[in-house]
Amino acid sequence: MLEIKIERTKNPAQKPAPGAPLGFGKIFTDHMFLMNYTEGKGWHDARIVPYEPISLYPSAMVFHYGQEMFEGLKAYKGADGKAYLFRPDMNAKRANASNDRLCMPELPVEDFVQAVKAVVSVDQDWIPSDPGTSLYIRPFMIATDEFLGVAPSKTYLFMVILSPSGAYYESGLAPVGIWIEDEFVRAVRGGIGFAKTGGNYAASLIAQVKAHDEGFSQVLWLDGVERKYIEEVGAMNIFFKIDGKVVTPALSGSILPGITRDSVITLCRDFGYEVEERKISVDELVAAQKEGRLEECFGTGTAAVISPVGKLRYGDEVMTIGGGEIGPLSQKLYDTVTGIQTGRLDDPYGNWRVCVDA
Ligand SMILES: *Cc1c(COP(=O)(O)O)cnc(C)c1O
Repeated sequence: MLEIKIERTKNPAQKPAPGAPLGFGKIFTDHMFLMNYTEGKGWHDARIVPYEPISLYPSAMVFHYGQEMFEGLKAYKGADGKAYLFRPDMNAKRANASNDRLCMPELPVEDFVQAVKAVVSVDQDWIPSDPGTSLYIRPFMIATDEFLGVAPSKTYLFMVILSPSGAYYESGLAPVGIWIEDEFVRAVRGGIGFAKTGGNYAASLIAQVKAHDEGFSQVLWLDGVERKYIEEVGAMNIFFKIDGKVVTPALSGSILPGITRDSVITLCRDFGYEVEERKISVDELVAAQKEGRLEECFGTGTAAVISPVGKLRYGDEVMTIGGGEIGPLSQKLYDTVTGIQTGRLDDPYGNWRVCVDA
């Protein structure tokens, strides 16, 4: 158990009024969690303090070589008034997979979960309750040594900040258009594609800008070697329903192992679908679409939960999927996952919905 010192703010900020548009990641709560790591000493000084700027030297290593890990999860207000998280242990485990790859220190899973619960508990009055809204939680770790040499840092800062966020789709679940990127790549096997780290996003922005300019909301990446196999979307994993089967790219080392992805695979199997985790070439996809066998396509990720894809562009082709409408499986998955998260449905797995104060 961490011993967490709590210093409460003397100047609480005005919380957004119910019904006010929140957007995503724009508003921050009154408090944040911090904890330091020093080589030889381990983790120390776990604390919750008022949300405020932090002070770092310009030579802090994170600014130069990008040694950084982040996570993303959400808290929801249940009908019982209590605050709930969704599978936070999975975020803690994935954080450590990222930390290992980036030569950063591991954080015990129970300490990560305790830190998240503690800061959410302090700021639980900030959890919005309008339909589709939640409190977005951003844990992250940065390298803080004052040193310009290329080596792993010996000191780190782990933090958790909180942001009340609006419904991803302001007017309900809506299909998006996706650009299959055939020039730039995001990650290769052996690289850092499976780690949740800023560097992957830095590499991705150029294609995201291009896709936006062309009128598409997200990029679908192909594998970095042959540019032939489907990998994932900007910040989502991707699923297809082909010939009644659910198909998603296998985790190859260059794909982020999404917690929503894992939850959707479990749910689809329990709904009775055959789920295949395998390589899917873009040619297979185009052929399936031409032959009318591509029934649905959707992305999965914490922010949107399920994001139905109505349109896919590859080269000169723009494929419309399911008539551009939301598919029945996409809708059922959205209703089920959000139902479990908010407590509208029972949690059939027993440990997916976790109370912050338990
Ligand atoms: C976070 C993320 C996802 C989705 O993961 P979830 O755990 O489902 O939120 C997918 N792809 C990338 C690149 C990500 O950073």
